[in-house]
Amino acid sequence: MSKLIDGKAFADRLCDTLSSEIASLKQAHQLSPCIAVVLVGEDPASATYVGAKVRRCEQLGIDSRSHHLPATTSEADLLALIEQLNTDPEVHGILVQLPVPKHIDSNSVINAINPDKDVDGFHISNAGALAVGQNNMVPCTPLGSLMLLQDELGDLSGLNAVVVGRSNIVGKPMAALLLQQSCTVTVAHSRTKDLPAVCREADILVAAVGIPHFIQGDWIKPGATVIDVGINRIQDSETGKNRLVGDVDFAAAKDVAGAITPVPGGVGPMTIACLMYNTVRAAKNQAGIKD
Ligand code: NDP
Repeated sequence: MSKLIDGKAFADRLCDTLSSEIASLKQAHQLSPCIAVVLVGEDPASATYVGAKVRRCEQLGIDSRSHHLPATTSEADLLALIEQLNTDPEVHGILVQLPVPKHIDSNSVINAINPDKDVDGFHISNAGALAVGQNNMVPCTPLGSLMLLQDELGDLSGLNAVVVGRSNIVGKPMAALLLQQSCTVTVAHSRTKDLPAVCREADILVAAVGIPHFIQGDWIKPGATVIDVGINRIQDSETGKNRLVGDVDFAAAKDVAGAITPVPGGVGPMTIACLMYNTVRAAKNQAGIKD
């Protein structure tokens, strides 16, 4: 039976540390970290994610300003709001919850955010900075996954890492972070030949595919560390109720992997904790306080 990597416990510890840091920033520097959260439309999953982020901010003492815009909002109006937030000295982080409605170009929105306030780390200049090892704002899900891996394994150098998925928000930045840690990194995707054989080479296997239970138990090298990024809502065949599952067939994987993140309770809580981490870093950077 694998060791369970408890992302919730790690995220709680990280948030406790941040909470103390925020209290001392307020006391010593009169600096109150603040994030603006922009939600366009009524997508229920997006509303849930935004709610969870705002609640975490409240727990930690981060100010949050919510901007909930109707689904009919024009791209020009959204860009105007971002510009206003870019120039507001009291706002240190800007998060536009994705996806935005189809008539709005998400790349234009992401790249309109001041890179220093881009706490999601999706701006093209932050992606470029990560690619050349000059990290500024790093995307939260890969950053949280890396923290869990380092906590579990310590030094990652020389390990074979396979990242399944090449999205801009998870797969590519995850691969860049692992490369920075001197892993030998393979990025697999929908055109990869013999994916099971590629996965079996992995000391570290990161699944970011978006297909429930996609990675099979016999694709995993015995003893490997498995990070399951997937969040998929499926209907339980026995109870008929909806439940969350990952991209890894957990029931099979737990007998093979050395350690594995559960879903829920693995990477998900780390994503929100790292958003808090990025917001505090952004506030300190903008106030000229050394990290
Ligand atoms: P995307 O849909 O953007 O990317 C999925 C990737 O998986 C693509 O690169 C795609 O390849 C690859 N893929 C699809 N099918 C296959 C296949 N049959 N074999 C191999 N590779 C395949 O998803 P995201 O990266 O945004 O998200 C991935 C998962 O992570 C989702 O379940 C999402 O919900 C979850 N997620 C979880 C977060 C968290 O906080 N825990 C945060 C963000 C995402 P190709 O490029 O060739 O199409």
